[in-house]
Amino acid sequence: AKKLSGNQFQLYDPNLEDRSLGSVELENDLYKALQNDELTVVYQPKYDAMKSRMFGVEALLRWHRPQKGIMKPKDFIPLAEETGLIIPMGEWILKKACEQGKEWHNQGLDHLSVSVNLSPQQFNQEDLVANVKTILEETDLPAPCLELELTENLIIHNTEKTLRIIHDLKDLGVKISIDDFGTGYSSLGYLKDFPVDTLKIDKTFIDELPDNPNNAAITNTIITLGNSLKLNVLAEGVEKKEQLDYLTDNGCYLIQGYYFSRPLKAEDVIHQIYIR
Ligand code: C2E
Ligand code: CA
Ligand code: CA
Ligand code: CA
Repeated sequence: AKKLSGNQFQLYDPNLEDRSLGSVELENDLYKALQNDELTVVYQPKYDAMKSRMFGVEALLRWHRPQKGIMKPKDFIPLAEETGLIIPMGEWILKKACEQGKEWHNQGLDHLSVSVNLSPQQFNQEDLVANVKTILEETDLPAPCLELELTENLIIHNTEKTLRIIHDLKDLGVKISIDDFGTGYSSLGYLKDFPVDTLKIDKTFIDELPDNPNNAAITNTIITLGNSLKLNVLAEGVEKKEQLDYLTDNGCYLIQGYYFSRPLKAEDVIHQIYIR
């Protein structure tokens, strides 16, 4: 029951019923998405502004839902996480991205790395490390060309187990980046223990650059922190020239965002290697 005002309660909310019916339908559709081949992967380039060249791509899920069109992750990843579907989906995109990475290498783009987002649930799967190892072997992608993007919130839980998994992944040779850096609830202390390669500055800090002094201060702090810990620092969600200039002026050269490129179909990546 929803409390309205004073002592009034509303026991029946038709909107609520619609919403839950909608989500049952969504859930049913989502169950079928994988087996019906409705998922695809798009790849957003990451550029090194110093070399004016793409150094990697981030694999992002898309769902072509029948009769509904293309669904973005925010519309189905939460449900996929709730239902556990994120596990087979996550494994699917990992394999797909590694296969595609290998194909790019075969086409001569052997410097290109491929990043895949790992959900907390996937991370806590007992066989994650074994799965990653098998996929690397099956696809023949060199391990250093695979990067796994983890969020900070995942790192605060269960520190010892998390540390072991990250070390096991590093032992395979894959790279680790901290996604949405600065937005989590964790302290910075973990950075000295965790073998992390890259910090990705969250888009929310990049959005109002260069005018918002707080965002500018946070961005600079992350850049300085990353540099002193000898980590790569990448800015995500860069849309404007002024943001790019601010970042490069302050020592951040790894750039991802619409300013250079939106996520692309795999076959279009090869045409966008250099910044024009
Ligand atoms: P994320 O990992 O932070 O990915 C970056 C998101 O920002 C992507 O949205 C990307 O398209 C968008 N983006 C990049 N540059 C710009 C920009 O300049 N402007 C704006 N407005 N947006 C930009 P997308 O593809 O909708 O993905 C949203 C989130 O869904 C991702 O955020 C990630 O957390 C999650 N996600 C996507 N694919 C997967 C996946 O395969 N597995 C898991 N576990 N999560 C995924
Ligand atoms: Ca990401
Ligand atoms: Ca991100
Ligand atoms: Ca983000």
